[in-house]
Amino acid sequence: MESKKHDLVVIGGGPAGYVAAIRAAQLGLDVACVDREKLLGGTCLRQGCIPSKALLESSHLFAEARDGLAGHGIQVSDLRLDLAAMMKRKHRIVRGLAAGVESLLKQNRVTRYLGNARLDGPGRIVVQKEAEEREQGTGNRTPESQLSTPNSQLLHSPRVLLACGSKSAALVGVEIDGDRVGTSTEALAWPEVPGRLVVIGAGYIGLELGSVWRRLGAEVVVLEALDRILFGMDAEISKAAQKIFQKQGLDIRLGVRVERAAADGGRAEVACQGQEPIPCDRVLVAVGRVADTDGLGLETVGIQIDRRGEIPVGDGFETSAEGVFAVGDCIRGPKLAHKASHEALACVERIVTGSGHVNYDAIPSVVFTHPEIASVGKTEDELRQSGRRYRRGTFPFAASGRAQTLGETGGMVKILADAQSDRILGVHVLGPRAGDLIAEAVAAIEFGASSEDLAHLCHAHPTLAESLGEAALDLNGRGLHRAPRRK
Ligand code: NAD
Repeated sequence: MESKKHDLVVIGGGPAGYVAAIRAAQLGLDVACVDREKLLGGTCLRQGCIPSKALLESSHLFAEARDGLAGHGIQVSDLRLDLAAMMKRKHRIVRGLAAGVESLLKQNRVTRYLGNARLDGPGRIVVQKEAEEREQGTGNRTPESQLSTPNSQLLHSPRVLLACGSKSAALVGVEIDGDRVGTSTEALAWPEVPGRLVVIGAGYIGLELGSVWRRLGAEVVVLEALDRILFGMDAEISKAAQKIFQKQGLDIRLGVRVERAAADGGRAEVACQGQEPIPCDRVLVAVGRVADTDGLGLETVGIQIDRRGEIPVGDGFETSAEGVFAVGDCIRGPKLAHKASHEALACVERIVTGSGHVNYDAIPSVVFTHPEIASVGKTEDELRQSGRRYRRGTFPFAASGRAQTLGETGGMVKILADAQSDRILGVHVLGPRAGDLIAEAVAAIEFGASSEDLAHLCHAHPTLAESLGEAALDLNGRGLHRAPRRK
């Protein structure tokens, strides 16, 4: 078996792995990055953030042309959907970005290995090459029997960084057949618009992809076990978002526990506790993601996964095995690409320079529905539960000049600050381009700003960002563009 030596081997080429590899190379290490997929970029780039955002954008434009442009005085006739062209565009974006990652690794002299990496005792990693790449976009793998002779390589490295990501969580009773009943991977590549789609789970994926197919014409039923959508987001914001999504035609049913779902001939059926089964054309299972540590050889270095299936790590992302670190979706915390990249940077910098840190209070989350929902820091529910005294300021987009001109007046900005120190503790936005607006709030929290600081910022006019300033003013009882508060 061929054998090579490196200073650091990174397992995984997603937003955690490739970022770690580049930073470590910049810091002078001889780095290897192993990924079993030919296209680098991980789930985020191949089957997650990027393709879903491409389809969200395309489907939004289609829905706007159908339902929204007339309001601007633009008449469209003979509107037709070319789903194949929409999918091709998505494909092109994914391929282009993946090629960009590949070239960045090359430019930074990171050695790239294509194959399955498995730990093989301390300091040893075996890379099993696969002759065929997975079929892009579907996640289908060539059966082992069809592969040409496996070709293995042995890597030696004093440090290994596990950045092996996550996979869709399974649901007991639900048989994923990869066609009628599938996960987000399949829902990003369906060849036709389903007549009726049942989405299981009203989380990030369920609402984003449910929105895509609703806009393209599907009847969409969203089944959620809890009594609210987007658990973990600020409750007031998620309630307001639910109303908007329902107006858009999503049939959201709360408190519904799915017991069974399976393909049935050319269709599918979903059975829920105490209810009539729901027949449909396709089912999207979106009930969370779990760490993907299958076949990684963790046992060969004595690492035991925790009860959630995640790799336990300390403050410096070190595992229980010397020289083995882990970051991103395979460890605790939200499964978010930017959280993973940040951990990757901090971990590598800590290994090489001795310092590196992630401020988990300043990690934003964004749901790319329309309107978008973005959040950073504490929710009102969390503050109430912790007993911390806080003040809140809000501003509705209906009162924003820019939102009016965009024709997107639903939603609001909410800022929460400590009652005594005025330090900003949380910011929640439901509204147009919330995902971009939240960056200002992230900076405010990272720099320890007060709501007064935010109120003093000069926001360009007319922009959506003015709404953040207005919410900060409201928090201090000085809102300008809304009715005065009663004393
Ligand atoms: P999620 O955790 O966001 O939501 C899953 C939902 O499924 C929950 O509300 C849960 O209550 C519900 N559920 C679980 N079991 C159920 C059952 N038996 N019947 C009905 N409902 C049930 O998970 P997701 O939407 O699958 O997303 C997975 C992860 O991917 C998320 O944690 C998110 O961080 C990440 N993600 C992020 C983005 C983004 O940043 N925009 C987009 C997509 C995914």
